[in-house]
Amino acid sequence: MERRILIVEDEKNIVDILRFNLQREGYATLEAYDGDEGLRLAVEENPDLILLDLMLPKRDGFAVCKGVREAGRNTPVIMLTARQEESDKVLGLEIGADDYITKPFSMRELLARVKANIRRSAMPVAGSADAGSRLERGRLTIDTEGMVVLKDGVALELTQREYDLICFLAEQPGKVYSREALMEHVWNYEGYVGDVRAVDVAVRRLREKLEDDPADPKFIVTRRGQGYLLEN
Ligand code: CA
Repeated sequence: MERRILIVEDEKNIVDILRFNLQREGYATLEAYDGDEGLRLAVEENPDLILLDLMLPKRDGFAVCKGVREAGRNTPVIMLTARQEESDKVLGLEIGADDYITKPFSMRELLARVKANIRRSAMPVAGSADAGSRLERGRLTIDTEGMVVLKDGVALELTQREYDLICFLAEQPGKVYSREALMEHVWNYEGYVGDVRAVDVAVRRLREKLEDDPADPKFIVTRRGQGYLLEN
């Protein structure tokens, strides 16, 4: 089935380059040149992935992303940001973007990320055990058939990524994974080198839902200088 990618970007030359390269890779494209149109198409057309510029007329990329999530869409969102400010990147991830890429970007890198994010959303469960099984990890139960994580028998409201992350860590509790390893296995970025902030943000958001006291995590533990592990 042909995958459809929504490009929300007000600079026409960037849209042209993206369309050309994405179509050459076999994707169909939808285009919006302002935030209102972007949000409308995201909700009505339900594309497989959204490339979302940050600085847009009418409604900025943050507001579009927020609107997409509020509409209940889990569509992978990659933010395109011209800014270098770290706070913008973190804010984008906080409000539900899956990834960001800084302009000027290399087309090769962008295409690799598009592919990784589409593959992730199409897979039922990353790093899971047999489908239909229940994984017991202390107070946690992972139901891989229902794709739900229960803490003390109560279902947690997790995003797909948070679910993938906890499933992956739960496969081998006690084992420490570096941020790079998590980018590779949970985010599907093969041989990933570079910014791993997305992992820290995802872990922090997951802890807010999972931990009794997110400031003193007992489930997902940080090993300084090494990475994260799930306590058993
Ligand atoms: Ca712009």
